[in-house]
Amino acid sequence: MRMTADVIVIGGGLVGMAIATGLQREGADVLVLDEGDVAHRASRGNFGLVWVQGKGAGMPAYAGWTRRSADLWPGFADRLKQETGIDVGYRKVGGIDIALDEADLDERRGKLAAIAAAAPAETRVDFEILDRNGVRDILPDVGPEVVGGSWTAHDGHVSPLLLLRALVTGFRNDGGRIETEASVERIAKGFSVMTAKGSFLAGRIVLAAGLGSARLAPMVGLSVPVRPQRGQVMITERQAPRLHHPTNWVRQTVEGTIQIGDSHEEAGFDDGVTTPVLRDIARRAVRAFPFLDGVRILRCWGALRVMSPDGCPIYRQSETMPGAFAATCHSGVTLAAAHAGLLAPMIARGTLDPSMEPFSPTRFDTS
Ligand SMILES: Cc1cc2nc3c(=O)[nH]c(=O)nc-3n(C[C@H](O)[C@H](O)[C@H](O)COP(=O)(O)OP(=O)(O)OC[C@H]3O[C@@H](n4cnc5c(N)ncnc54)[C@H](O)[C@@H]3O)c2cc1C
Repeated sequence: MRMTADVIVIGGGLVGMAIATGLQREGADVLVLDEGDVAHRASRGNFGLVWVQGKGAGMPAYAGWTRRSADLWPGFADRLKQETGIDVGYRKVGGIDIALDEADLDERRGKLAAIAAAAPAETRVDFEILDRNGVRDILPDVGPEVVGGSWTAHDGHVSPLLLLRALVTGFRNDGGRIETEASVERIAKGFSVMTAKGSFLAGRIVLAAGLGSARLAPMVGLSVPVRPQRGQVMITERQAPRLHHPTNWVRQTVEGTIQIGDSHEEAGFDDGVTTPVLRDIARRAVRAFPFLDGVRILRCWGALRVMSPDGCPIYRQSETMPGAFAATCHSGVTLAAAHAGLLAPMIARGTLDPSMEPFSPTRFDTS
C-alpha cells in the first residue's frame, strides 16, 4: 500500500490527535499512523487534569506555554462539542494542591513564587496559599490533617477519554484518516514511512509517538530522550457531587466517581499495579478526605508517563531532514489546546516560532 498525505502524524494519542486536529483545521490533508493496542498509551491511563500551577519551575517558557494552553481550553472544548456533539467534561473551576504538612506548604509557596517571578506579566500565574480554613471553604470535606494548600483559578479538569474520543471523531468527520495496527518501522527521506501495513508518503511528518518517539527520532536526525515513568491510579464507585474542585491527586469526575492518584515510579516499561503503592495512595487520600474511608474502589491501573530528562516538553524540527517534527510532553491533556491551536499552525507553516527554542532537545546536549 502506498498512500500519500500532506502530513503524516505518527502516534494517535492525545499529542498526535491534537496536532492532527490542528493541522486539519489549517487545511492540511493529514494521515495518522498508530501502533494499536500493543502500545503503551499514556492518553488512556492519565488523571485528566488541565493543570497550570507548579508547571515550569526552571523553565519560564513551559510555564507560559501551559498558561496559554489553559487560556485556550474553554474555546477548544466548546469547538469540539460543536463539531462532534461530545462534551469532554471540561471544567475550569480552579484547583488546589493540598498539603498535609507545613514543610510541604512552605516549599510550595517558594516554588510558585519563583515561577511567577520568572514569568512575563501576560502569562504569570496568580496563586494563593491557603491555610486549613481557606481550603475548607473550597473543599468542605477535607480532614483535620490538611494544613493548607495552594490555589489557582487557572486549573481545571476534563474527561481524558472523552477528549481522545472527541479528537478522533472530529478528525474522522472532517475526512482525516487513521491507520491503526500501523507500527512505524522505518522512515526514509522524502518522507517515506514504512509500517507492517505498507508504506505511506508525505511531505511532512510529526513524531508524536509518546515513548515510541525515542526509537523513531534518530531516523530523521532528531533526538527525543524520553523514558517511562509509571503512575498508579484508582477510581471509586460513584458518589453524589461533593468535590467541586479538583486537587492534583483526588478529583471527582463528571460521572461522579472519584479518581485517586498517583505515583511516580521508575519501573521501566512495567505498567502494572502493586499493592504497597496502591495502599500508600489510598491512605494519603483518606488522610486528605476522610469520607473516602468507606468508599469502594472499583478499578486501579498503571500507566506510563512520557518523561523527558527535565520533565518539560520537547518540540523540534529536524535540521538534517527539514519537514520532520517531534512533539512530546508529559502533560498532554493540559497542553492539548496549545498543540491544536498554536503548535499545529507552526508545523503547517513549516517552521517553529523562535519562542519554541527553549523546548529544543539540544538543551540536553552534554558536549
Ligand atoms: C498516571 C498518569 C497521569 C497523568 N495525568 C495527567 C494529567 O492529569 N494531566 C495531563 O495534562 N497529563 C497527564 N498525564 C500525561 C498525559 O497522559 C500524556 O502527556 C499524554 O497522554 C501523552 O500523549 P502521547 O500522545 O504523547 O502518548 P501516548 O498516549 O502514549 O500515545 C502514543 C501513541 O503513539 C503510538 N505509537 C508508539 N510507537 C509507534 C510506532 N512506532 N508507530 C506508530 N505508532 C506508534 C502508540 O500506539 C500510542 O497510541 C498523565 C500520565 C500518566 C501516566
